[in-house]
Amino acid sequence: MQEQRSVDVIVVGAGNAALVAALAAHEAGASVLVLEAAPKEQRGGNSRFSGGIFRFAHGGLDDIRPLLTEEGARWADRVTVEPYQPTRFHADIDLVCESRSDPELISTLIDTSYETMAWMRDRGVRWELVTDKLFDPAKIPAGTTYAVPPGGAVRATNEGIGLMYDLFNAVEAAGIDVWYDAPVQQLRMEGSRCVGVQVRRGDRFEDVGAGAVVLGCGGFESNPELRLRYLGPGWDLVKVRGTRFNMGHVLMQALAAGAAPAGHWGGAHASPLDAHAPDVGELSLTDRMSRYSYPYCLLVDRNGNRFVDEGEDEVWLTYAKTGWAIRAQQGARAWQIFDQKTIHLLEPRYSTGTPVEAGSLEDLAAKLGINQRGLLETVARFNASCAEAAGAAFDPFHKDGLAAHPAEQPAKSNWAQPIDTAPYVAYAVTCGITFTYGGLKIDRTARVIDTVGQPMGGLFATGEIAGGFFFHNYAAGSGLMRGATFGRIAGARAAEAARAGVGSAAGG
Ligand SMILES: Cc1cc2nc3c(=O)[nH]c(=O)nc-3n(C[C@H](O)[C@H](O)[C@H](O)COP(=O)(O)OP(=O)(O)OC[C@H]3O[C@@H](n4cnc5c(N)ncnc54)[C@H](O)[C@@H]3O)c2cc1C
Repeated sequence: MQEQRSVDVIVVGAGNAALVAALAAHEAGASVLVLEAAPKEQRGGNSRFSGGIFRFAHGGLDDIRPLLTEEGARWADRVTVEPYQPTRFHADIDLVCESRSDPELISTLIDTSYETMAWMRDRGVRWELVTDKLFDPAKIPAGTTYAVPPGGAVRATNEGIGLMYDLFNAVEAAGIDVWYDAPVQQLRMEGSRCVGVQVRRGDRFEDVGAGAVVLGCGGFESNPELRLRYLGPGWDLVKVRGTRFNMGHVLMQALAAGAAPAGHWGGAHASPLDAHAPDVGELSLTDRMSRYSYPYCLLVDRNGNRFVDEGEDEVWLTYAKTGWAIRAQQGARAWQIFDQKTIHLLEPRYSTGTPVEAGSLEDLAAKLGINQRGLLETVARFNASCAEAAGAAFDPFHKDGLAAHPAEQPAKSNWAQPIDTAPYVAYAVTCGITFTYGGLKIDRTARVIDTVGQPMGGLFATGEIAGGFFFHNYAAGSGLMRGATFGRIAGARAAEAARAGVGSAAGG
Protein backbone atom coordinates (compact mmCIF):
# COMPACT_ATOMS: atom_id res chain seq x y z
CA MET A 1 0.00 0.00 0.00
CA GLN A 2 1.27 3.48 -0.91
CA GLU A 3 2.28 5.58 2.07
CA GLN A 4 0.21 8.71 2.60
CA ARG A 5 1.92 11.93 1.60
CA SER A 6 2.37 14.41 4.42
CA VAL A 7 3.66 18.00 4.77
CA ASP A 8 3.86 20.53 7.57
CA VAL A 9 1.40 23.00 6.06
CA ILE A 10 -1.18 22.62 3.32
CA VAL A 11 -2.46 25.85 1.79
CA VAL A 12 -5.78 25.49 -0.03
CA GLY A 13 -6.14 27.89 -2.97
CA ALA A 14 -3.63 29.93 -4.95
CA GLY A 15 -4.88 33.51 -4.89
CA ASN A 16 -3.29 36.45 -3.12
CA ALA A 17 -4.26 35.34 0.40
CA ALA A 18 -3.10 31.76 -0.09
CA LEU A 19 0.23 32.57 -1.73
CA VAL A 20 1.13 35.10 0.95
CA ALA A 21 0.32 32.42 3.54
CA ALA A 22 2.42 29.87 1.66
CA LEU A 23 5.41 32.23 1.55
CA ALA A 24 5.07 33.08 5.24
CA ALA A 25 4.81 29.41 6.26
CA HIS A 26 7.81 28.51 4.11
CA GLU A 27 9.86 31.32 5.64
CA ALA A 28 8.91 30.06 9.08
CA GLY A 29 10.61 26.78 8.18
CA ALA A 30 7.61 24.65 7.21
CA SER A 31 7.35 22.30 4.24
CA VAL A 32 4.40 23.68 2.27
CA LEU A 33 2.06 22.28 -0.37
CA VAL A 34 -0.37 24.57 -2.23
CA LEU A 35 -3.49 22.92 -3.66
CA GLU A 36 -5.30 24.87 -6.37
CA ALA A 37 -8.59 23.87 -8.00
CA ALA A 38 -7.92 25.66 -11.29
CA PRO A 39 -5.63 24.45 -14.06
CA LYS A 40 -2.31 26.28 -14.19
CA GLU A 41 -3.32 28.62 -17.00
CA GLN A 42 -6.30 29.86 -14.96
CA ARG A 43 -4.51 30.07 -11.63
CA GLY A 44 -4.66 33.10 -9.37
CA GLY A 45 -8.34 33.25 -8.38
CA ASN A 46 -10.18 36.54 -8.08
CA SER A 47 -6.87 38.14 -7.17
CA ARG A 48 -5.73 37.77 -10.77
CA PHE A 49 -8.91 39.46 -12.04
CA SER A 50 -8.53 42.33 -9.61
CA GLY A 51 -7.41 45.89 -10.13
CA GLY A 52 -4.59 45.08 -7.71
CA ILE A 53 -5.41 48.05 -5.46
CA PHE A 54 -4.38 47.68 -1.80
CA ARG A 55 -5.86 49.92 0.92
CA PHE A 56 -3.35 50.59 3.69
CA ALA A 57 -2.61 53.16 6.34
CA HIS A 58 0.06 55.70 5.44
CA GLY A 59 1.18 59.25 6.06
CA GLY A 60 0.90 60.51 2.46
CA LEU A 61 3.20 60.40 -0.55
CA ASP A 62 6.43 60.48 1.47
CA ASP A 63 5.36 57.28 3.18
CA ILE A 64 4.20 55.69 -0.04
CA ARG A 65 7.31 56.42 -2.09
CA PRO A 66 9.58 53.80 -0.48
CA LEU A 67 7.09 51.13 -1.49
CA LEU A 68 7.04 52.09 -5.17
CA THR A 69 9.29 50.99 -7.96
CA GLU A 70 10.97 53.80 -9.85
CA GLU A 71 8.59 53.28 -12.75
CA GLY A 72 5.67 53.04 -10.32
CA ALA A 73 6.37 56.55 -9.06
CA ARG A 74 6.30 58.11 -12.54
CA TRP A 75 3.08 60.08 -11.94
CA ALA A 76 4.09 61.34 -8.51
CA ASP A 77 4.32 64.97 -9.60
CA ARG A 78 0.82 64.89 -11.13
CA VAL A 79 -0.98 63.68 -8.02
CA THR A 80 -1.61 64.61 -4.43
CA VAL A 81 -2.28 61.93 -1.85
CA GLU A 82 -3.57 62.97 1.56
CA PRO A 83 -2.35 61.03 4.59
CA TYR A 84 -4.45 57.99 5.32
CA GLN A 85 -3.93 57.45 9.01
CA PRO A 86 -5.36 54.43 10.83
CA THR A 87 -8.13 56.62 12.30
CA ARG A 88 -9.33 57.56 8.82
CA PHE A 89 -9.10 53.95 7.62
CA HIS A 90 -11.20 52.90 10.64
CA ALA A 91 -13.68 55.70 9.97
CA ASP A 92 -14.11 54.63 6.33
CA ILE A 93 -14.69 50.99 7.29
CA ASP A 94 -17.12 52.02 10.03
CA LEU A 95 -18.98 54.27 7.60
CA VAL A 96 -19.42 51.75 4.82
CA CYS A 97 -19.88 48.68 7.03
CA GLU A 98 -22.20 50.44 9.46
CA SER A 99 -19.82 49.78 12.38
CA ARG A 100 -20.51 46.06 12.26
CA SER A 101 -17.02 44.78 11.44
CA ASP A 102 -15.26 42.65 14.03
CA PRO A 103 -13.12 45.28 15.83
CA GLU A 104 -10.20 42.91 16.51
CA LEU A 105 -9.99 41.75 12.92
CA ILE A 106 -10.28 45.25 11.47
CA SER A 107 -7.67 46.65 13.87
CA THR A 108 -5.28 43.85 12.93
CA LEU A 109 -5.88 44.51 9.24
CA ILE A 110 -5.31 48.25 9.59
CA ASP A 111 -2.41 48.12 12.04
CA THR A 112 -0.39 45.62 9.98
CA SER A 113 -1.34 46.99 6.56
CA TYR A 114 1.70 49.16 5.89
CA GLU A 115 4.22 46.60 7.11
CA THR A 116 2.53 43.96 4.96
CA MET A 117 2.92 46.19 1.89
CA ALA A 118 6.63 46.48 2.65
CA TRP A 119 6.87 42.72 3.29
CA MET A 120 5.31 42.02 -0.11
CA ARG A 121 7.62 44.54 -1.80
CA ASP A 122 10.57 42.70 -0.28
CA ARG A 123 9.30 39.47 -1.83
CA GLY A 124 9.05 40.94 -5.30
CA VAL A 125 5.63 42.58 -5.57
CA ARG A 126 6.08 45.75 -7.61
CA TRP A 127 3.92 48.61 -6.36
CA GLU A 128 2.84 51.67 -8.35
CA LEU A 129 0.66 54.74 -7.91
CA VAL A 130 -2.91 54.39 -9.15
CA THR A 131 -3.31 57.28 -11.54
CA ASP A 132 -4.96 56.07 -14.70
CA LYS A 133 -7.73 53.94 -13.18
CA LEU A 134 -10.46 56.48 -12.51
CA PHE A 135 -9.29 59.03 -15.10
CA ASP A 136 -7.22 59.10 -18.25
CA PRO A 137 -4.33 61.44 -17.38
CA ALA A 138 -3.88 62.17 -21.09
CA LYS A 139 -7.33 63.77 -21.13
CA ILE A 140 -6.75 65.92 -18.05
CA PRO A 141 -5.28 69.33 -18.97
CA ALA A 142 -1.49 69.36 -18.72
CA GLY A 143 -0.28 70.78 -15.45
CA THR A 144 -3.41 69.73 -13.52
CA THR A 145 -2.55 68.02 -10.29
CA TYR A 146 -5.28 65.69 -9.21
CA ALA A 147 -6.13 64.12 -5.89
CA VAL A 148 -5.97 60.35 -5.70
CA PRO A 149 -8.29 58.81 -3.09
CA PRO A 150 -5.78 58.16 -0.27
CA GLY A 151 -7.18 54.72 0.54
CA GLY A 152 -6.84 53.59 -3.05
CA ALA A 153 -3.57 55.20 -4.06
CA VAL A 154 -1.37 52.14 -4.68
CA ARG A 155 -1.76 48.99 -6.72
CA ALA A 156 0.37 46.16 -8.00
CA THR A 157 2.06 46.93 -11.30
CA ASN A 158 -0.11 45.45 -14.08
CA GLU A 159 -2.94 45.14 -11.57
CA GLY A 160 -4.13 41.65 -10.57
CA ILE A 161 -2.25 40.00 -13.43
CA GLY A 162 1.01 41.56 -12.24
CA LEU A 163 0.28 40.86 -8.59
CA MET A 164 -0.17 37.16 -9.21
CA TYR A 165 2.77 37.01 -11.60
CA ASP A 166 5.01 38.44 -8.86
CA LEU A 167 3.58 36.20 -6.14
CA PHE A 168 3.86 33.02 -8.22
CA ASN A 169 7.45 33.99 -9.05
CA ALA A 170 8.20 34.29 -5.33
CA VAL A 171 6.51 30.95 -4.60
CA GLU A 172 8.41 29.22 -7.39
CA ALA A 173 11.71 30.81 -6.34
CA ALA A 174 11.11 29.49 -2.83
CA GLY A 175 10.63 25.99 -4.24
CA ILE A 176 7.10 25.66 -2.83
CA ASP A 177 5.16 22.83 -4.43
CA VAL A 178 1.87 23.82 -6.16
CA TRP A 179 -0.60 21.25 -7.47
CA TYR A 180 -3.02 22.53 -10.10
CA ASP A 181 -6.29 20.88 -11.10
CA ALA A 182 -6.34 19.85 -7.45
CA PRO A 183 -9.64 20.88 -5.79
CA VAL A 184 -9.85 20.01 -2.12
CA GLN A 185 -12.83 17.78 -1.64
CA GLN A 186 -12.80 17.23 2.11
CA LEU A 187 -11.09 18.33 5.26
CA ARG A 188 -9.73 15.40 7.21
CA MET A 189 -10.64 15.87 10.84
CA GLU A 190 -9.67 14.07 14.03
CA GLY A 191 -12.27 15.39 16.43
CA SER A 192 -12.17 19.15 15.94
CA ARG A 193 -8.59 19.07 14.71
CA CYS A 194 -7.73 19.26 11.02
CA VAL A 195 -5.05 16.74 10.07
CA GLY A 196 -5.05 17.08 6.31
CA VAL A 197 -7.28 17.09 3.27
CA GLN A 198 -8.65 14.85 0.60
CA VAL A 199 -7.82 16.29 -2.79
CA ARG A 200 -9.22 15.37 -6.19
CA ARG A 201 -6.67 14.48 -8.84
CA GLY A 202 -8.39 13.66 -12.09
CA ASP A 203 -10.82 10.83 -11.40
CA ARG A 204 -9.24 9.74 -8.12
CA PHE A 205 -8.95 11.17 -4.63
CA GLU A 206 -5.81 11.38 -2.57
CA ASP A 207 -5.35 11.99 1.14
CA VAL A 208 -2.58 14.37 2.16
CA GLY A 209 -1.69 14.74 5.81
CA ALA A 210 -0.56 18.01 7.39
CA GLY A 211 0.39 19.53 10.70
CA ALA A 212 -1.80 22.48 9.83
CA VAL A 213 -4.07 23.60 6.98
CA VAL A 214 -4.61 27.17 5.80
CA LEU A 215 -7.82 27.82 3.90
CA GLY A 216 -7.39 30.56 1.30
CA CYS A 217 -9.88 29.25 -1.23
CA GLY A 218 -12.32 32.11 -1.64
CA GLY A 219 -16.00 32.73 -1.01
CA PHE A 220 -19.07 31.28 -2.73
CA GLU A 221 -19.71 34.02 -5.30
CA SER A 222 -19.23 31.72 -8.30
CA ASN A 223 -21.85 29.22 -7.10
CA PRO A 224 -25.43 30.09 -8.19
CA GLU A 225 -26.99 27.59 -5.79
CA LEU A 226 -25.24 29.08 -2.74
CA ARG A 227 -25.87 32.63 -3.96
CA LEU A 228 -29.58 31.90 -4.14
CA ARG A 229 -29.48 30.22 -0.74
CA TYR A 230 -27.68 33.02 1.11
CA LEU A 231 -28.13 36.21 -0.92
CA GLY A 232 -31.71 35.62 -2.03
CA PRO A 233 -33.91 35.37 -5.12
CA GLY A 234 -32.39 36.69 -8.31
CA TRP A 235 -28.80 36.35 -7.14
CA ASP A 236 -28.47 33.01 -8.88
CA LEU A 237 -28.73 34.92 -12.15
CA VAL A 238 -26.20 37.72 -11.68
CA LYS A 239 -22.98 37.96 -13.61
CA VAL A 240 -19.76 36.97 -11.84
CA ARG A 241 -16.91 39.47 -12.23
CA GLY A 242 -14.09 37.10 -11.39
CA THR A 243 -13.05 33.46 -11.25
CA ARG A 244 -15.44 30.55 -11.79
CA PHE A 245 -13.63 28.42 -9.20
CA ASN A 246 -14.81 30.02 -5.95
CA MET A 247 -17.67 27.60 -5.37
CA GLY A 248 -17.69 27.70 -1.56
CA HIS A 249 -17.18 23.95 -1.33
CA VAL A 250 -14.46 24.02 1.33
CA LEU A 251 -16.31 26.77 3.19
CA MET A 252 -19.30 24.42 3.50
CA GLN A 253 -16.96 21.58 4.52
CA ALA A 254 -15.48 23.68 7.29
CA LEU A 255 -18.93 24.62 8.59
CA ALA A 256 -19.91 20.95 8.55
CA ALA A 257 -16.76 20.17 10.55
CA GLY A 258 -17.88 22.57 13.26
CA ALA A 259 -16.49 25.98 12.25
CA ALA A 260 -18.64 28.95 13.22
CA PRO A 261 -20.08 31.18 10.51
CA ALA A 262 -19.24 34.87 10.82
CA GLY A 263 -20.12 38.10 9.12
CA HIS A 264 -22.76 39.18 6.66
CA TRP A 265 -23.95 35.97 5.01
CA GLY A 266 -26.66 37.82 3.13
CA GLY A 267 -24.18 40.37 1.82
CA ALA A 268 -21.73 40.59 -1.05
CA HIS A 269 -19.62 43.04 -2.96
CA ALA A 270 -21.51 43.78 -6.18
CA SER A 271 -20.77 46.66 -8.51
CA PRO A 272 -21.84 48.23 -11.83
CA LEU A 273 -20.78 46.05 -14.72
CA ASP A 274 -21.22 46.50 -18.46
CA ALA A 275 -24.52 44.84 -19.37
CA HIS A 276 -22.75 42.97 -22.15
CA ALA A 277 -20.01 41.53 -19.94
CA PRO A 278 -19.57 37.74 -20.03
CA ASP A 279 -21.59 35.79 -17.44
CA VAL A 280 -18.39 34.80 -15.65
CA GLY A 281 -15.12 36.71 -15.64
CA GLU A 282 -12.66 36.21 -18.49
CA LEU A 283 -8.94 36.64 -17.99
CA SER A 284 -8.61 38.50 -21.29
CA LEU A 285 -10.82 41.25 -19.78
CA THR A 286 -10.10 40.99 -16.03
CA ASP A 287 -11.87 44.00 -14.46
CA ARG A 288 -12.15 46.11 -17.59
CA MET A 289 -15.93 45.65 -17.90
CA SER A 290 -16.52 47.58 -14.65
CA ARG A 291 -18.32 50.93 -15.06
CA TYR A 292 -17.43 53.26 -12.19
CA SER A 293 -17.70 56.79 -13.62
CA TYR A 294 -21.31 57.00 -12.45
CA PRO A 295 -20.73 59.98 -10.08
CA TYR A 296 -20.69 62.12 -13.24
CA CYS A 297 -23.83 60.68 -14.81
CA LEU A 298 -27.49 60.17 -14.12
CA LEU A 299 -28.19 56.50 -13.50
CA VAL A 300 -31.69 55.60 -14.65
CA ASP A 301 -33.87 52.51 -14.88
CA ARG A 302 -36.07 51.27 -17.72
CA ASN A 303 -38.71 53.88 -16.81
CA GLY A 304 -36.19 56.68 -16.99
CA ASN A 305 -36.20 57.12 -13.21
CA ARG A 306 -33.17 57.73 -11.01
CA PHE A 307 -32.84 55.38 -8.05
CA VAL A 308 -29.56 56.20 -6.24
CA ASP A 309 -27.51 59.19 -5.14
CA GLU A 310 -24.80 58.84 -7.79
CA GLY A 311 -22.59 61.38 -5.97
CA GLU A 312 -23.03 60.16 -2.41
CA ASP A 313 -19.28 59.84 -1.80
CA GLU A 314 -16.01 59.03 -3.56
CA VAL A 315 -16.57 56.10 -5.87
CA TRP A 316 -14.33 53.71 -3.91
CA LEU A 317 -16.76 53.96 -0.99
CA THR A 318 -20.01 53.48 -2.93
CA TYR A 319 -19.39 51.17 -5.91
CA ALA A 320 -19.68 47.87 -3.99
CA LYS A 321 -23.27 48.61 -3.01
CA THR A 322 -24.31 50.25 -6.27
CA GLY A 323 -24.46 46.83 -7.93
CA TRP A 324 -27.17 45.90 -5.40
CA ALA A 325 -29.21 48.95 -6.35
CA ILE A 326 -28.92 48.06 -10.05
CA ARG A 327 -29.85 44.43 -9.42
CA ALA A 328 -33.07 45.57 -7.76
CA GLN A 329 -34.23 47.30 -11.00
CA GLN A 330 -36.34 45.57 -13.61
CA GLY A 331 -34.21 43.07 -15.52
CA ALA A 332 -31.25 44.00 -13.28
CA ARG A 333 -30.53 46.68 -15.87
CA ALA A 334 -29.79 50.42 -15.74
CA TRP A 335 -28.25 53.09 -17.94
CA GLN A 336 -25.54 55.64 -17.18
CA ILE A 337 -26.35 58.88 -19.03
CA PHE A 338 -23.51 61.34 -19.62
CA ASP A 339 -23.34 64.59 -21.53
CA GLN A 340 -20.35 66.25 -23.19
CA LYS A 341 -19.32 68.17 -20.07
CA THR A 342 -18.02 65.05 -18.35
CA ILE A 343 -17.39 62.55 -21.11
CA HIS A 344 -13.62 63.15 -20.92
CA LEU A 345 -13.74 61.99 -17.30
CA LEU A 346 -14.77 58.41 -18.08
CA GLU A 347 -12.42 55.72 -16.85
CA PRO A 348 -10.19 54.48 -19.67
CA ARG A 349 -11.73 51.00 -19.34
CA TYR A 350 -15.05 52.31 -20.74
CA SER A 351 -13.34 51.72 -24.08
CA THR A 352 -14.31 48.03 -23.77
CA GLY A 353 -18.01 49.04 -23.90
CA THR A 354 -20.39 50.03 -26.66
CA PRO A 355 -21.84 53.47 -25.95
CA VAL A 356 -25.14 54.61 -27.40
CA GLU A 357 -25.04 58.22 -28.56
CA ALA A 358 -27.78 60.63 -29.62
CA GLY A 359 -28.23 64.33 -30.32
CA SER A 360 -31.28 64.62 -28.08
CA LEU A 361 -32.59 62.90 -24.98
CA GLU A 362 -35.69 61.81 -26.95
CA ASP A 363 -33.54 60.01 -29.47
CA LEU A 364 -31.37 58.56 -26.75
CA ALA A 365 -34.37 57.08 -24.94
CA ALA A 366 -35.68 55.64 -28.22
CA LYS A 367 -32.33 54.05 -29.01
CA LEU A 368 -32.03 52.58 -25.52
CA GLY A 369 -35.62 51.33 -25.51
CA ILE A 370 -36.40 53.07 -22.24
CA ASN A 371 -39.39 55.25 -21.35
CA GLN A 372 -38.93 58.50 -23.26
CA ARG A 373 -41.28 60.66 -21.24
CA GLY A 374 -39.89 59.28 -17.99
CA LEU A 375 -36.32 60.14 -18.97
CA LEU A 376 -37.23 63.66 -20.15
CA GLU A 377 -39.12 64.39 -16.94
CA THR A 378 -36.33 63.00 -14.78
CA VAL A 379 -33.66 65.07 -16.49
CA ALA A 380 -35.79 68.24 -16.56
CA ARG A 381 -36.55 67.99 -12.86
CA PHE A 382 -32.94 67.14 -12.05
CA ASN A 383 -31.54 70.00 -14.15
CA ALA A 384 -33.92 72.50 -12.55
CA SER A 385 -32.61 71.57 -9.12
CA CYS A 386 -28.92 72.04 -9.96
CA ALA A 387 -27.11 75.08 -8.61
CA GLU A 388 -26.70 78.07 -10.87
CA ALA A 389 -23.16 78.23 -12.20
CA ALA A 390 -22.72 74.59 -11.22
CA GLY A 391 -20.07 74.28 -13.91
CA ALA A 392 -17.72 76.69 -12.17
CA ALA A 393 -17.98 74.85 -8.86
CA PHE A 394 -17.72 71.35 -10.34
CA ASP A 395 -14.53 69.59 -9.22
CA PRO A 396 -14.18 66.02 -10.44
CA PHE A 397 -11.21 65.22 -8.20
CA HIS A 398 -12.74 66.09 -4.83
CA LYS A 399 -16.10 65.73 -3.19
CA ASP A 400 -17.24 69.16 -4.35
CA GLY A 401 -20.47 69.41 -2.36
CA LEU A 402 -22.28 70.41 -5.54
CA ALA A 403 -25.62 68.94 -4.57
CA ALA A 404 -29.04 68.71 -6.19
CA HIS A 405 -32.28 67.83 -4.42
CA PRO A 406 -34.78 67.25 -7.21
CA ALA A 407 -38.42 66.67 -6.29
CA GLU A 408 -39.45 62.99 -6.14
CA GLN A 409 -35.92 61.79 -6.88
CA PRO A 410 -32.95 60.78 -4.76
CA ALA A 411 -30.59 63.65 -4.00
CA LYS A 412 -27.25 63.87 -5.78
CA SER A 413 -24.83 64.96 -3.07
CA ASN A 414 -21.77 65.83 -5.15
CA TRP A 415 -20.89 66.51 -8.80
CA ALA A 416 -24.46 67.58 -9.65
CA GLN A 417 -24.48 69.45 -12.95
CA PRO A 418 -27.33 69.71 -15.46
CA ILE A 419 -27.34 67.08 -18.20
CA ASP A 420 -27.80 69.45 -21.13
CA THR A 421 -24.90 69.29 -23.54
CA ALA A 422 -25.47 67.04 -26.54
CA PRO A 423 -24.55 64.61 -27.85
CA TYR A 424 -25.67 62.46 -24.95
CA VAL A 425 -23.89 59.18 -24.31
CA ALA A 426 -25.29 56.12 -22.49
CA TYR A 427 -23.79 52.88 -21.21
CA ALA A 428 -26.04 49.95 -20.27
CA VAL A 429 -25.04 48.38 -16.95
CA THR A 430 -26.00 45.46 -14.79
CA CYS A 431 -24.93 44.03 -11.43
CA GLY A 432 -21.72 42.01 -11.22
CA ILE A 433 -20.95 40.07 -8.05
CA THR A 434 -17.34 40.32 -6.88
CA PHE A 435 -17.15 38.32 -3.67
CA THR A 436 -19.27 37.26 -0.72
CA TYR A 437 -18.98 38.73 2.79
CA GLY A 438 -20.07 35.75 4.93
CA GLY A 439 -17.36 33.28 5.92
CA LEU A 440 -15.64 31.38 8.66
CA LYS A 441 -15.12 32.89 12.07
CA ILE A 442 -11.44 33.53 12.68
CA ASP A 443 -9.55 35.29 15.45
CA ARG A 444 -6.78 37.82 15.05
CA THR A 445 -4.21 35.03 14.69
CA ALA A 446 -6.24 33.60 11.77
CA ARG A 447 -7.30 30.49 13.70
CA VAL A 448 -10.68 29.12 12.68
CA ILE A 449 -13.07 29.26 15.63
CA ASP A 450 -15.73 26.60 16.17
CA THR A 451 -19.35 26.97 17.20
CA VAL A 452 -18.48 26.65 20.88
CA GLY A 453 -15.90 29.41 20.63
CA GLN A 454 -12.77 27.24 20.61
CA PRO A 455 -9.99 27.37 18.02
CA MET A 456 -10.07 24.32 15.77
CA GLY A 457 -6.68 22.64 15.98
CA GLY A 458 -4.57 22.92 12.86
CA LEU A 459 -7.07 25.04 10.94
CA PHE A 460 -6.45 28.62 9.76
CA ALA A 461 -8.19 30.83 7.23
CA THR A 462 -7.52 34.01 5.29
CA GLY A 463 -9.02 36.03 2.45
CA GLU A 464 -12.56 35.82 1.17
CA ILE A 465 -13.29 32.58 3.03
CA ALA A 466 -13.05 34.42 6.37
CA GLY A 467 -16.07 36.41 7.58
CA GLY A 468 -16.57 39.30 9.95
CA PHE A 469 -14.82 42.04 7.98
CA PHE A 470 -17.34 43.55 5.56
CA PHE A 471 -21.04 44.28 5.97
CA HIS A 472 -23.48 45.97 3.56
CA ASN A 473 -20.75 47.76 1.65
CA TYR A 474 -17.00 47.90 1.27
CA ALA A 475 -14.03 50.23 0.82
CA ALA A 476 -12.01 49.49 -2.33
CA GLY A 477 -8.68 47.78 -1.84
CA SER A 478 -9.56 46.21 1.52
CA GLY A 479 -10.12 42.73 0.07
CA LEU A 480 -6.59 42.14 -1.12
CA MET A 481 -5.16 43.86 1.96
CA ARG A 482 -7.25 41.65 4.24
CA GLY A 483 -6.05 38.52 2.44
CA ALA A 484 -2.41 39.57 2.63
CA THR A 485 -2.36 40.71 6.26
CA PHE A 486 -4.10 37.58 7.48
CA GLY A 487 -2.24 35.42 4.98
CA ARG A 488 1.03 36.42 6.58
CA ILE A 489 -0.33 35.73 10.03
CA ALA A 490 -1.97 32.43 9.01
CA GLY A 491 1.16 31.13 7.29
CA ALA A 492 3.45 31.91 10.24
CA ARG A 493 0.98 30.54 12.80
CA ALA A 494 0.31 27.40 10.79
CA ALA A 495 4.04 26.71 10.58
CA GLU A 496 4.29 27.21 14.33
CA ALA A 497 1.32 24.94 14.99
CA ALA A 498 2.73 22.22 12.72
CA ARG A 499 6.05 22.43 14.50
CA ALA A 500 4.38 22.15 17.88
CA GLY A 501 2.50 19.15 16.53
CA VAL A 502 -0.67 19.96 18.38
CA GLY A 503 -2.44 22.22 15.90
CA SER A 504 -3.49 25.77 16.47
CA ALA A 505 -4.47 25.40 20.10
CA ALA A 506 -0.79 25.83 20.88
CA GLY A 507 -0.42 28.53 18.30
CA GLY A 508 -1.49 31.32 20.63
C1 LIG B 1 -12.88 42.10 -11.22
C2 LIG B 1 -12.39 42.22 -9.80
C3 LIG B 1 -11.65 43.33 -9.40
C4 LIG B 1 -11.22 43.45 -8.07
N1 LIG B 1 -10.39 44.49 -7.73
C5 LIG B 1 -9.90 44.55 -6.47
C6 LIG B 1 -8.93 45.52 -6.10
O1 LIG B 1 -8.44 46.30 -6.93
N2 LIG B 1 -8.53 45.55 -4.80
C7 LIG B 1 -8.99 44.67 -3.86
O2 LIG B 1 -8.61 44.73 -2.70
N3 LIG B 1 -9.86 43.71 -4.21
C8 LIG B 1 -10.31 43.61 -5.48
N4 LIG B 1 -11.17 42.62 -5.82
C9 LIG B 1 -11.52 41.63 -4.78
C10 LIG B 1 -10.34 40.73 -4.57
O3 LIG B 1 -9.96 40.20 -5.81
C11 LIG B 1 -10.65 39.60 -3.61
O4 LIG B 1 -11.13 40.10 -2.40
C12 LIG B 1 -9.35 38.83 -3.33
O5 LIG B 1 -8.70 38.55 -4.53
C13 LIG B 1 -9.66 37.55 -2.64
O6 LIG B 1 -8.44 36.86 -2.49
P1 LIG B 1 -8.43 35.36 -2.02
O7 LIG B 1 -7.03 34.94 -2.10
O8 LIG B 1 -9.20 35.22 -0.76
O9 LIG B 1 -9.32 34.61 -3.12
P2 LIG B 1 -8.96 34.25 -4.62
O10 LIG B 1 -7.94 35.15 -5.19
O11 LIG B 1 -10.24 34.14 -5.36
O12 LIG B 1 -8.29 32.83 -4.50
C14 LIG B 1 -9.02 31.69 -4.12
C15 LIG B 1 -8.42 30.50 -4.82
O13 LIG B 1 -8.95 29.31 -4.25
C16 LIG B 1 -9.15 28.37 -5.31
N5 LIG B 1 -10.12 27.38 -4.85
C17 LIG B 1 -11.46 27.50 -4.71
N6 LIG B 1 -11.99 26.35 -4.26
C18 LIG B 1 -10.96 25.48 -4.10
C19 LIG B 1 -10.86 24.14 -3.66
N7 LIG B 1 -11.94 23.41 -3.31
N8 LIG B 1 -9.65 23.56 -3.64
C20 LIG B 1 -8.53 24.25 -4.00
N9 LIG B 1 -8.57 25.51 -4.43
C21 LIG B 1 -9.77 26.13 -4.47
C22 LIG B 1 -9.60 29.22 -6.46
O14 LIG B 1 -9.40 28.59 -7.69
C23 LIG B 1 -8.73 30.47 -6.30
O15 LIG B 1 -7.52 30.35 -7.00
C24 LIG B 1 -11.57 42.46 -7.14
C25 LIG B 1 -12.28 41.33 -7.54
C26 LIG B 1 -12.67 41.20 -8.86
C27 LIG B 1 -13.41 39.95 -9.27
